[in-house]
Formats: sequence, structure tokens, C-alpha cells
Amino acid sequence: QNHYDIIIIGAGPIGMACAIEAKKANLSYLIIEKGALVNSLFNYPVFMTFFSTSQKLEIGGVPFVTINPKPNRNEAVEYYRRVAEKFDLNINLFERVIEVEKNESAIFKIKTAKENYTSGNVIVATGFYDVPLLMNVPGEDLPKVTHYYKDPHLYAFQNVLVVGANNSGVDAALETYRKGANVTMLIRSEELGPHVKYWVRPDIENRIKEGAITAHFHSQLLEIREGEVDIQTPEGIKTIPNDFVIAMTGYQPDFSMLRKFGIDLPESLCPVYNEETMETNIKGLYLAGVVCGGLDTHKLFIENSRVHAEMILKNIVGK
Ligand code: FAD
Repeated sequence: QNHYDIIIIGAGPIGMACAIEAKKANLSYLIIEKGALVNSLFNYPVFMTFFSTSQKLEIGGVPFVTINPKPNRNEAVEYYRRVAEKFDLNINLFERVIEVEKNESAIFKIKTAKENYTSGNVIVATGFYDVPLLMNVPGEDLPKVTHYYKDPHLYAFQNVLVVGANNSGVDAALETYRKGANVTMLIRSEELGPHVKYWVRPDIENRIKEGAITAHFHSQLLEIREGEVDIQTPEGIKTIPNDFVIAMTGYQPDFSMLRKFGIDLPESLCPVYNEETMETNIKGLYLAGVVCGGLDTHKLFIENSRVHAEMILKNIVGK
């Protein structure tokens, strides 16, 4: 009863796309998700707007209707929930996959925090949002430091340091500034990130130019303490008052989990898989979605990785 043709790990948009394809192919499948449905999107900032148009976020051919030029996080979460409902997808939520092992008879054994399962194939669609890239500075573990910015209201009238100047950092700086925070941005390079949404860029550039938001370029964080931080700037070390640090320094796939599943990870940390079938070094074990990009988290997104679902199912059905 706990055996499936395919077990899919992760109920993100791409794990869901794989389930829809499995269903179309009349194969038995189960998605196992450690959190809520589309857990990464659920944990995005509440006012976040996607850089993709809604059409490019669609899966299973279900139209994603919005009157906005780009959909926001709340619309996307609701869209994917409706898709799961429409296809009546078989999903176990709040169940973490701990082990995947292939036995001699080519059957996968999947162990979760709650159950054991077996399957003929496994698709790993676990994304990259669970492991933040740490700054490795003293004080990073203080409760006032977060790698998951959520809601600007928390920071009203507070001294906020935003580390990083890609989309997440820029959004956090602008949103908290508009709730009355005193915002300082700390930027490692000499300019804002190259991927900053084109309609947001003039806003942040002008706030920096007029001095509403202080930006230190070519700078880095040295130490975080209760009430203040030390930063290294081109003018020397500065100590500034601080109530909260929002560290938007990026994320990475859970490499230790991939290794534990037996997936080949070269030094580049870009997992090895067949680019036509998405199959890894282990026969029957596939990678899907943004996890495939390794450390290069800007390479894959929903638009260009939703095709993995069809590629994988074509390969499984062909066998
Ligand atoms: P995810 O959505 O991350 O899904 C992976 C799932 O696997 C998660 O739900 C996770 O809980 C689950 N999981 C992980 N480990 C386990 C385990 N051991 N057991 C069970 N479940 C597990 N992309 C775009 O295309 N357009 C955008 O505009 C866009 N904006 C973004 C904004 C932000 C702030 C961020 C962080 C990312 C953005 N992305 C965007 C990238 C986007 O996150 C991904 O494209 C999308 O979420 C990838 O889907 P996925 O299914 O591959 O992975």
C-alpha cells in the first residue's frame, strides 16, 4: 500500500508539475513535502512581487489569471493551491524525507520522519530556499538577525541593516524604509545586483542618491552585537546603531541531503544529471526544478525548469 511508481520529494511548483505529468501518464505517485504546499513561496515576503509574468508561472496548462503586470506572492500561493485541488494531487504535507536508498532489486526505499515507502522512481524537487548562505560573522546567531525577511511592519522606527543588494535585499530596504525604518544597506561590490527588477531599480537608486537610504558599497559586516554593528567601509571601520539585521545573502540547495541520497556532486557543487532526461548517476533517481542549478541559483526558475516534469515522465514512461 506504501508502494508507488514515483515518489516526488517537494511540493514546490516543479514537484507539482511532475505529479500532474505522472497523473496524465496513469502512474501511481505521491508527493512528500516537509512543510506547507509550495512551502518556499509561502515563506517569501508577504508583499513580494514575482519578476515573472503569471503566464510563465503556470503549470499543468491551468491559466494563472491576474490583472497585475506581475503576480504577487499571495496570488501565486493561491494559484498553486487551486491547481493542487483541481488535479486532486496526492500529497503528504508536513512530512520530511530523510533517506532514499536503492536496494538490489532496483526498488527505492524512502524513509520519512513518519513512514517508510517504496517506489520504482524518485524525483528530487527540493529547491534551494532552505539553506541560507551565511555571512560567518560574530553575532550572526543573535535573534535580531534573519535570513528570511517577511513583513516590513516589524521594523517600523528601528535601525535596520540590510546586507546584500539583489532583489531580496532591495525589496527589504525599500519596504522597511517606507514603514519608517532607518535603513542602511551593506553592499559587497561597487553596485546594486545585476538582476534587480527593472521597475524597482530607479526607486532604490533614487532613495540612495537622495540619502533616504544609506548605502555602503565595497563594504562588509564585521560583527553584530546587541544594539550596534561594526562594518568595514572604504573609509574605515564604522560602528553604527542597530536593532535588526536582514541578511539577504542568498540561499543554496541542501547539498548534504543530495549527497546522502547518493547523487554525484563535483567540486563545483553543480549536481550531475543527464540534461535530456534529468536522471542522475543513480538510475531511476531524477532531479527537477531549481535544485539542479547548484550554487548558481539565478540560472533556473519556474519558467525554464517546469519543462523538467515532461522530460522526466517521458523517460520513465519510455522505460
Ligand atoms: P521550491 O519551490 O523551493 O520547492 C521545493 C520544496 O521541497 C519546498 O516546498 C521544500 O519544503 C521541499 N523540501 C525540501 N527538502 C525536503 C525534504 N527533505 N522532504 C520533503 N520536502 C522537502 N522564480 C521564478 O520563476 N519567478 C520569480 O519571480 C521568482 N521569484 C523569486 C523570489 C524569491 C524571493 C526567491 C527566493 C525565489 C524566486 N524564484 C522565482 C525562484 C523560485 O523560488 C523558484 O523558481 C521556485 O520556487 C522553484 O520551484 P521548485 O519546485 O524547484 O522549488
